[in-house]
Amino acid sequence: MMNSSRKIILEHDDGEFSSSNTSSSTLLDPEEFRRQGHMMVDFLADYFHNIQNYPVRSQVEPGYLKKILPDSAPYQPESIEEILEDVKRNIFPGLTHWQSPNFFAYFPCISSSAGILGEMLSVGLNVVGFSWITSPAATELENIVMDWLGKLINLPNTYLFSGGGGGVIQGTICEAMLCTIVAARDQMLEKIGRDNIGKLVVYSSDQTHSCFQKSIKISGIRLENFRAIPTTKATEFALCPKSLREAIQKDIKVGLVPLFLCATIGTTSTTTVDPLHPLCQIAKEYGIWVHVDAAYAGSACICPEFQHFLNGVENADSFSLNAHKWLFCTLDCCCLWVKDPNSLTKALSTTPEYLRNKASESQQVVDYKNWQITLSRRFRALKLWFVLRCHGVVNIKKFIRSHIKMAKNFEGLISMDERFEIVVPTNFSMVCFRVSPSALQKKFEFVDEVRVNEFNEKLLESINSSGVIHMTHTIVGGIYMIRFAIGAPLTHYSHITNAWDVIQNHANVML
Ligand SMILES: *Cc1c(COP(=O)(O)O)cnc(C)c1O
Repeated sequence: MMNSSRKIILEHDDGEFSSSNTSSSTLLDPEEFRRQGHMMVDFLADYFHNIQNYPVRSQVEPGYLKKILPDSAPYQPESIEEILEDVKRNIFPGLTHWQSPNFFAYFPCISSSAGILGEMLSVGLNVVGFSWITSPAATELENIVMDWLGKLINLPNTYLFSGGGGGVIQGTICEAMLCTIVAARDQMLEKIGRDNIGKLVVYSSDQTHSCFQKSIKISGIRLENFRAIPTTKATEFALCPKSLREAIQKDIKVGLVPLFLCATIGTTSTTTVDPLHPLCQIAKEYGIWVHVDAAYAGSACICPEFQHFLNGVENADSFSLNAHKWLFCTLDCCCLWVKDPNSLTKALSTTPEYLRNKASESQQVVDYKNWQITLSRRFRALKLWFVLRCHGVVNIKKFIRSHIKMAKNFEGLISMDERFEIVVPTNFSMVCFRVSPSALQKKFEFVDEVRVNEFNEKLLESINSSGVIHMTHTIVGGIYMIRFAIGAPLTHYSHITNAWDVIQNHANVML
């Protein structure tokens, strides 16, 4: 016999499953579910009540949890009460509290009661709507709310089901980008031959989110053929149409095939907006697929005063926004619209015998499995439907405008302290600032950009390790900036002024 490090211990059925009180009905006993469900809602409501009492950024060390949890799963059942106690005791310290009113890091991932309840319903129903027939309501509601939302941000009709296009809710932008690249890739390879995949070139600015690069890697397009076109402070880090054209022409000259452009409305570092209109015009000339990534800022376009940022989108091919960022749905809820759903389904369809059905063959229905990477999918449309209905467009606009106002307010506070400066214009609800070089010149003999960057980095770490507020940073054009992103659901003006006090106090100690 061979020695194996795996030891297998065989067991006899000890009769547990034949006795009635542990029959499989305890998996989902309606009355016990009611009791535990109420308890869970109370648990979360208490959490939201007390959320300000926790350090915003988790203060634990790597590996903290392994030290306190047992190293194997319990053999005997444990009660929900015990488990919830352990959540408080062991899990909470390892949380960064994204819904805390003092959370200003990354981009917000804004919860709302409506979003949470919609999610809860989706999880409770737990239908798997990969084809229309597997739950017609899941598909049809998604068709409807995607048209609703498209209309709200004033996307051209060509992106909506009612205009021959269509929308799908995926998990994240990363998936949405991958699906659109693959659709564009296959469309092109059909023309030029699959052997020519090595010739395909994709474009974006150097500010485009890293998930674009990840999608390229997965899509099989050569990473060497990814042109991340440099941006400068002079153009506020937006993609310059002239540079795009030059890059395209250079590639064509050497026999490469321009395929895809990713333009961003609201970059992650600085919320820069790429000039869609001229970029799409150029792309159109060369037959390039344009994807518009509006992950965070797309939601602002529900307010008409922001819709001008989308001018030119009529000449793009696909558009995505994360409703889990600034549209009050819980993670995950990435909305993707395409003008030509056929290009998606051509690239992504598979139909094994065990999934064949009359409705699909009639071609009168949408089968969302052919619009995305995965087969199985959650009923995410419910939470978007809940959010849109519970708040109404009128209040959604109010929430978004209140975040924008708070950002203006924060800018105002910064501009009254000459030691600080705002580094890039504030387009939405995120402010990029730093302690200015001139303030440091008063304290240090020698000051260069490295020194300024290091100082700001230390300031940010000092603030974050206090646990009182949480912000994150970026470096663009060699400049280290602190990002102050507003939008957590419990944040009010008082939290903004309080955050500013905290920032000033830490700066006072260091300056
Ligand atoms: C957040 C963000 C992404 C990444 O979103 P995922 O859904 O996590 O993939 C992409 N682009 C922009 C502009 C973002 O702000």
